[in-house]
Amino acid sequence: MTATNQSSLLNQINIVLVNTSHPGNIGSAARAMKTMGLSNLILAYPEHQIDEQSYALSAGAEDLLKKARVVPTLAEALEGSTLIIGASARRRTYERPLLDPHEMGGFVIEQAKAGSRIAVMFGCERTGLTNEELEICNYHVTIPANPDYSSLNLAMAVQVLSYEIRQSFLKYLGNDPMRQEIVHTSEKFLEKEQIAGGDEVLGFYSHLEDVLQTTGFLHENNRGHIMRKIKRIFTRPFLTRDDINILRGILSSVTRTIDHRNE
Ligand code: SAH
Repeated sequence: MTATNQSSLLNQINIVLVNTSHPGNIGSAARAMKTMGLSNLILAYPEHQIDEQSYALSAGAEDLLKKARVVPTLAEALEGSTLIIGASARRRTYERPLLDPHEMGGFVIEQAKAGSRIAVMFGCERTGLTNEELEICNYHVTIPANPDYSSLNLAMAVQVLSYEIRQSFLKYLGNDPMRQEIVHTSEKFLEKEQIAGGDEVLGFYSHLEDVLQTTGFLHENNRGHIMRKIKRIFTRPFLTRDDINILRGILSSVTRTIDHRNE
């Protein structure tokens, strides 16, 4: 396998730091990523821009900071990402399927091989990922730390998860005799792939919210709660009865509006 092919697989993985408050952590995260062969760093609405402290703590990973994308919205941070995994120290409401770091590493490499473009998202130091940020995720990953003290420093969490991604990547390089062909195929797959990215999914959510307010399915009293449930439907592969009820409710509200207009 050529160096280009190897790095192209890891190139499909973005590390997204959301609303980071300490520029030093951005530098340490870049260093953590580079040691594991990851290079795409995206900063979504950081509290402070990359500064001298970031560069000091990045050690030899200045190149990652120089090419890091800094964007003002979640949609831009997730542009083109077809699989979104959120790192969270705590279990939250509106949960997604939960992976442990080792499972996540294997899954990320499997999905990268199949052509997915993956975002692994980390929250801000004080509060972690917000509900809105967690709700765009297809999966959550938690590092099973000391239950009485489970919150790692941001860059250290990046290190642990990047390490697991690298271990699976190495296993894949070492074990898979078909690897060149698979990488080649996945590159072709990527060109043709039509899976919606996180930016498009966020656009769909606001469109749906507008329409459902017009039809009256959403109103002041239920909007936040129902939209959260709806978002959960679209990030999970299997529909529950609850999901079907929501979808049927939407359809009925549209039908009622149409019937009303025709009267
Ligand atoms: N105080 C926050 C944690 C912030 S730590 C809270 O209680 O949620 C900053 C980020 O590092 C988190 O948002 C998460 O993305 C990551 N992180 C820290 N500890 C983690 C853990 N045990 N498992 C997974 N991610 C973790």
